[in-house]
Amino acid sequence: MGQFLEEGDVLCPDLYFRLRRHFGKVRVSNRGEGLVMSPGTNGGKPRVISSGEHYSVCCPWCGDTRYRLFINHRWFEHRYMANCFNETCCTKGDNGKHRLNQLYLWLFNTSAMVSLAVRSSKVNLDDYAPSLDFVPPEGCLSLSSLPENHEAILYIKSRGYNPSVIEKYLGVGWISEEAVPLLRSRLYIPAYSGNKLLGYQARIISEKSVSKQKYINPPGMKKSKIIYNLDNASAQNLVVICEGPIDVWSIGPAGVAIFGSDCSYKQLSIIGENFNGKDIAVALDGDASYKADALVESIRGAATRSHVFKVPMAVGEDPGDLRLELWRRIENCLTEGGKNIDPQTLKEWPSE
Ligand SMILES: [Zn+2]
Repeated sequence: MGQFLEEGDVLCPDLYFRLRRHFGKVRVSNRGEGLVMSPGTNGGKPRVISSGEHYSVCCPWCGDTRYRLFINHRWFEHRYMANCFNETCCTKGDNGKHRLNQLYLWLFNTSAMVSLAVRSSKVNLDDYAPSLDFVPPEGCLSLSSLPENHEAILYIKSRGYNPSVIEKYLGVGWISEEAVPLLRSRLYIPAYSGNKLLGYQARIISEKSVSKQKYINPPGMKKSKIIYNLDNASAQNLVVICEGPIDVWSIGPAGVAIFGSDCSYKQLSIIGENFNGKDIAVALDGDASYKADALVESIRGAATRSHVFKVPMAVGEDPGDLRLELWRRIENCLTEGGKNIDPQTLKEWPSE
């Protein structure tokens, strides 16, 4: 579950996390040191003076268990800068070249030269550290304890959701008058991983309260480290990535939300670890079409064994409003890719 990242800084997080995704554990050496080269003389190759930061993994070709495959942090542009230090010479000669090309393809999904961001100074990986412990706010009630004519129940039903279902599968509740004023009279929308509460959103239900902030998160909650509905979605063979928790309410168990249209490295890493090999549909709001394209590319890097595709969405359309039409589009995309939707995939929440 993405919480075993090494602490500290790396120069090329993108390469680092791609390696983590493929090899599990990655060791970092010469942390924070850049690559220093001298220009080649007489038309010769440039010479490496100091190769700087390296990521080492257990070499996949020789059964190594001692992290003897060393990969330079700029390996994506200097393909010879990866070496297996076992006697087997895995990365030497024509065979070695072929293997490194293969590794390149595994990591980047292309054999064309990619360009990754490299920090010249150390970057802070604090964002990837394990998250804080949270507790529900004071005065939080279960939906099932509220009367039928309670404003929260009426609101949820008016939006087409079943209160007992979103309570049962997503833990949605109501923050009563007993809460601190800031959170009072809002829906409680928790985000879990396993049994651990990673944070929550307190959402207003009256669209009229323009003066109020629509969502409030508890202090210290890092939305960029959370995938909403991860546990339910992990049990599905297809996952639909959308922006907000309420989209997930309408998509069903296969939906996850990234809290907006930007996906952090940490979230990509969670997606890679939990969904690699499964079909992944990207269904951001129609207004974020170019971000959805970019997200498809990033996820292809994070989940290289997955079929990743964007669900077509018109400007102004939200996946949460489409209901079964969204699933029709997902099936279309799969059919175009020569695939079928897994019949086990739940297209809505079990009604009880
Ligand atoms: Zn080797």
